[in-house]
Amino acid sequence: MNVKWVLENLCLYDERNPDRPEMDDEDVNDRAKRLAKDKNQCFCDNCFHGCSMLADELVERFDDREKNEMVDIIKNSRQNTNQLQ
Ligand SMILES: [Zn+2]
Repeated sequence: MNVKWVLENLCLYDERNPDRPEMDDEDVNDRAKRLAKDKNQCFCDNCFHGCSMLADELVERFDDREKNEMVDIIKNSRQNTNQLQ
């Protein structure tokens, strides 16, 4: 299983998604409020096409090696974002 591919198919606002766009606190709050009302109220590309649900399932099934790889990928994506600023 390609761990990076799975993570990229998570909700675009999921903290584990290496493609997650920069969000300020207001974005995060807005989204939290919307999802509190209805869990299916995310309209990012991945949720809209149903990819995020499947990706979420796959992440749940990651074995230890895949979990470690996931942590590395997330760590690297944060570093890259920081370098751009
Ligand atoms: Zn989404």
